[in-house]
Amino acid sequence: MPIQPSNLREALRKIADPDSGKDIVTAGMVKDIKPEGDNITLEIELNTSEPAFQQKLSEQIEAEIRATAQENKEVVAAVTVKFTVDSRSANKRVHDAGNPLPNVKKIIAIGAGKGGVGKSTVATILAVGLARQGAKVGLLDGDIYGPSMPTMLGLHQEESKAEDGLLLPFDVHGVEVMTIGKMVEPDKALIWRGPRAHSAFNQLATQTKWGELDYLFVDLPPGTGDVPLSLAQLLPLSGAVIVCTPQVVAQDDARRAVRMFQQLGVPLLGLVENMSYFVADDGKEYDIFGKGGGEQMAAAMNIAFLGGIPIHPVMRIAADTGEPLRNWAINETMSTALDTVCDNLVSAANASNTDRPTLSIS
Ligand code: ADP
Repeated sequence: MPIQPSNLREALRKIADPDSGKDIVTAGMVKDIKPEGDNITLEIELNTSEPAFQQKLSEQIEAEIRATAQENKEVVAAVTVKFTVDSRSANKRVHDAGNPLPNVKKIIAIGAGKGGVGKSTVATILAVGLARQGAKVGLLDGDIYGPSMPTMLGLHQEESKAEDGLLLPFDVHGVEVMTIGKMVEPDKALIWRGPRAHSAFNQLATQTKWGELDYLFVDLPPGTGDVPLSLAQLLPLSGAVIVCTPQVVAQDDARRAVRMFQQLGVPLLGLVENMSYFVADDGKEYDIFGKGGGEQMAAAMNIAFLGGIPIHPVMRIAADTGEPLRNWAINETMSTALDTVCDNLVSAANASNTDRPTLSIS
């Protein structure tokens, strides 16, 4: 008996796409399957025409099909794998598929190589900071492993509301906010992986009734694993901001995050160095973690440095009490630092122009 189509798909599902981490069926790379008697011809779409990669993938596909057929006592004669190449970057493909959020001019991801560096803090600062300057801003908390926006923005007492079958964003501190943390118990969100995380994030992003927004910031989960990678591919991003701390030991992780966005074809708008230094009440600066490490790394990787944010206990308190605007009242050094990061981000986002797909370069 020839191999059954369901078994054939099962075999193909065992093969991972190295770009997205998903299996090649889920990643949409299998464009056609033609069984003719005991022979099988497959058409696979790749974003590379590299012969060595194609050869390896072809061998892997054939091996998986034959192994599955053998297990099920089915017959497979010739396996022919044909490749077509779609060389657009992942982000260009998402752009070309049409903007699922037509009200939003620029969608900007905030990423970090690892947790705890202040990614959510910086996402909050950028969102609230740009709203203070008069921009229309949204913030999507996609950090499904540890959604911190309910606390950082003081959403615990807010009730979730829906209208026309869509979720209404929370309107706080001048920003439209949606967070996975208000939809599920945070400890449940922590166990989400792969497809569940993917679809929860997709729903949160596309089934929220966003107003007309100049910027939608997306706080991604930390790291460069499957989940941040696949979430970063769901929305047509105008760019990404990387957050890191100054220490040399933190830089390897930040570099990986930069590479992840480069691989996806998402423009790097710049890097923010958080916990850069400490400013005491007398105005004296203390260098705790090695100020400037992030700036040097940004220069070495040829991406813009958007500025450094000092470490200050009131920043931690403002996050714990859900009062982000307090950060601007700490002292002048702090408010200047926060505004500089916001201004530099606006300049970088305007220069990159990726909200107009015809001008985007992949
Ligand atoms: P991440 O999103 O990278 O995991 P968070 O933004 O949640 O990191 O920050 C981790 C902790 O550090 C939080 O308690 C936050 O309030 C605190 N924090 C972040 N940046 C600063 C800063 N510049 N000064 C003081 N505390 C900070």
